[in-house]
Amino acid sequence: MSSKKVIIIGAGVGGMATAIRLKLLGYNVDVFEKNDYPGGKLSHFETNGFRFDAGPSLFTSPHLIEELFTLANEPIASYFTYEKLSVACNYFYDDGVCIKAYTNKDAFAKELQQKTNEPTKNLYQYLYNSSTAYNQIAVIFLRHSLHTIQTLFKAPIIKAISKLKLAYLFKSLNDYNETAFRSPKLVQLFNRFATYNGSNPYKAPAMLSLIAHLEHNEGAFYPKGGMISITNALYRLALKLGVQFSFGKSVQNILTQNNCVTGVMVDNDQQNAAIVVSNMDVYFTYKNLLNDSTSAAKVKKQERSSSALIFYWGMNKTFPMLDLHNIFFSGDYKAEFDAIFNTGLPFNDPTVYINITNKLEPGEHAPLGKENWFVMVNVPANNGQDWTSLEQFYRQVIIQKLNKIIGENIASFIAVSEVLTPVTIESKTASYMGSLYGTSSNSRMAAFMRHPNYSKTTGGLYFVGGSVHPGGGIPLCLSSAAIVSNLIIDKYKHNI
Ligand SMILES: Cc1cc2nc3c(=O)[nH]c(=O)nc-3n(C[C@H](O)[C@H](O)[C@H](O)COP(=O)(O)OP(=O)(O)OC[C@H]3O[C@@H](n4cnc5c(N)ncnc54)[C@H](O)[C@@H]3O)c2cc1C
Repeated sequence: MSSKKVIIIGAGVGGMATAIRLKLLGYNVDVFEKNDYPGGKLSHFETNGFRFDAGPSLFTSPHLIEELFTLANEPIASYFTYEKLSVACNYFYDDGVCIKAYTNKDAFAKELQQKTNEPTKNLYQYLYNSSTAYNQIAVIFLRHSLHTIQTLFKAPIIKAISKLKLAYLFKSLNDYNETAFRSPKLVQLFNRFATYNGSNPYKAPAMLSLIAHLEHNEGAFYPKGGMISITNALYRLALKLGVQFSFGKSVQNILTQNNCVTGVMVDNDQQNAAIVVSNMDVYFTYKNLLNDSTSAAKVKKQERSSSALIFYWGMNKTFPMLDLHNIFFSGDYKAEFDAIFNTGLPFNDPTVYINITNKLEPGEHAPLGKENWFVMVNVPANNGQDWTSLEQFYRQVIIQKLNKIIGENIASFIAVSEVLTPVTIESKTASYMGSLYGTSSNSRMAAFMRHPNYSKTTGGLYFVGGSVHPGGGIPLCLSSAAIVSNLIIDKYKHNI
């Protein structure tokens, strides 16, 4: 068995970023992907002249992608370009108010004052605090394994822990936002950031207020060509470096001997390697590839993040009041999260998100005079619900809501329609219960409870991606690739 060979299971964003990093360390890297395309959740499709990003739509922290190109000494501009958005999102409220979330802080503060009477100082203070929390605390936790004793005693970690305010752990995000803003509209707007990792703002800790930093201090971005350009750029870079990809290859087992990894079985063929990195959901890795029901059950104990129902609508019309990112808020946000995380019942006034990439590249993602709508509502992770009737239910309530606020008969403009449910999210990407971000962050200690990036019992086995530390979302998956690569450097540096 070659000690310099690594096998990666899955070509999601975390798997590809790990492949790039390990190839640069001198390993021979083989990636086995069950689908016949790279990207996992970060994929796309085209139908009848409309192009849709299938999963993620919001792009933050582009420096994490740039970092990979810098490490590889490759010019990023030949692979990938992006622009900063001037408006992060249009927020529509039930009473007809629309707030433009400008990425320029002064413009945003002015907009909030005009539309909600919120004193401008409240926004400045909030964003200052979220920047401090991110730079002094989060960035350290996001780039280190929290599960190795050596890490916990490293100087930056001790410093980060000392900066951790009790309020960040002991207050919910909603309680924190209620003390920060007078206007309930702004509390709702800043509560929404909990959904960026599939959590409930009424339960998740105030620490999640740092997510606002990414969008409103660092900025929201648009990758030219849509989100699929991220997958394409990472895939091309990995190929250029010599990473080997095998598509349509589902790994059946991880092989071990004397508590160490020896390789994997793919199509009844044994592939040997002393290091295996699973980019597959950690629950299914234990359950299906290691036949380890005890470890799978431990992972299962943690609450899943929310999932989503997505309608991809090709619209026979353009809508000037909409932008790239649009949110139509629920009139009762608390009841909506109650339905998602507690009762699991269908909710008849969901918050609706619409993403339209054709706004930034007119004529590129939809025929002229038309638009590609990615319409999403948050729903519970799959628990055997009847998704066929839920799909009908949500289609109807979404259209009702949009008809009222947009003032048009939305259904009459839908020329093309496709749908993604928690069940199809699970079948396409092997994400347990179709959750978007692995486990939720609804408890104080959620960050520490996420599965480590390495196996405590099987030498040479590592985990990367949304279901493990530091969590879901493209930036966190890219960070987890850096953590895995550092763990491997620490353990095997003598061999490479
Ligand atoms: C609808 C939706 C909206 C989202 N919105 C955003 C957003 O706006 N911004 C954001 O940052 N994030 C968003 N996310 C989350 C983001 O997409 C994920 O966190 C991220 O893409 C997960 O990457 P990953 O590395 O964990 O791998 P995944 O994308 O989960 O890929 C895992 C790969 O492993 C493969 N695999 C599984 N089992 C096997 C096997 N046995 N053998 C071989 N291959 C296997 C799968 O086929 C898949 O390709 C969204 C997700 C969804 C679904």
